[in-house]
Amino acid sequence: MRLIDGRALAAQLRKNVADEVAARIARGRRPPALAVVLAGEDPASRLYVRNKVKACAETGIRSEEHRLPADIAQADLLDRIRALNADPAIDGILVQLPLPPQCDPARVIEAIDPGKDVDGFHPVNAGRLALGLPGLVPCTPAGCLRLIQTVHPDLAGAEALVIGRSTIVGRPMAALLLAESATVTIAHSRSRDLPSLVARADIVVAAVGRAELIRGHWLKPGATVIDVGINRIPGADGQARVVGDVAFAEAAEVAGAITPVPGGVGPMTIACLLLNTLAAAR
Ligand code: NAD
Repeated sequence: MRLIDGRALAAQLRKNVADEVAARIARGRRPPALAVVLAGEDPASRLYVRNKVKACAETGIRSEEHRLPADIAQADLLDRIRALNADPAIDGILVQLPLPPQCDPARVIEAIDPGKDVDGFHPVNAGRLALGLPGLVPCTPAGCLRLIQTVHPDLAGAEALVIGRSTIVGRPMAALLLAESATVTIAHSRSRDLPSLVARADIVVAAVGRAELIRGHWLKPGATVIDVGINRIPGADGQARVVGDVAFAEAAEVAGAITPVPGGVGPMTIACLLLNTLAAAR
């Protein structure tokens, strides 16, 4: 069994980004610039934003944090996004979700210039991905594909199962695998007999949000397992423990390759955000 090391691959990608940023600056260009918009005080969102800003700084990408009050009117948030769209010094715009309840995330995301939409959530980018056209791709599934390709450089004809159909992970993941000519199945909360779908798959991507839902004995021996889930459960010592959507110890006995949680998909998400910011700047 091979442990797929997301931290190591993410570090390599970050180094590539840093090298390219340095080369741009050496050619007399300004560094790429990312605006991160955070409305409200959600502690998890603040932590995510802090990590993104720190990762930008480490690679030479300039970032701006736009902190807005939790009671901001949707119209004011839309005005801020329009101003960032029009700002030639900004290449990428990221609106940290979830938004306060008075702001409709679909309206807000649609207001972002698709060329600056480094999360890849704008309908234009989602549509381009669905059509197999180039565009900005959501960071988490983009990172998962890179992890899969460390094991399967050629995915043509591979049986891939994506569990979860969210717009930020499951759907774009399925589109990316299809673009690589895998045979793709999407399972979701209404699917029947998940174990038999898992048993057929050469590649399983789990993006559900349920602790250890996928059991080791469901897997086809030798399968590649990508675990997107981040679930906090009480540990034996009473402290919270983070586990994935896959029962790791069991799955590691059967899988050919598997991502750990943490240290698998998570670090790749931020690395792909940096890649998208660089792509938007280009
Ligand atoms: P979501 O809640 O939007 O979607 C979950 C999906 O799972 C839904 O499509 C639902 O149909 C499906 N589902 C629910 N129960 C199921 C079942 N019993 N069998 C099959 N499918 C079922 O979640 P999301 O935003 O896609 O995130 C999924 C998980 O990935 C969460 O744990 C989240 O924290 C994690 N996540 C991690 C990263 C990262 O960077 N590592 C990024 C995004 C999300």
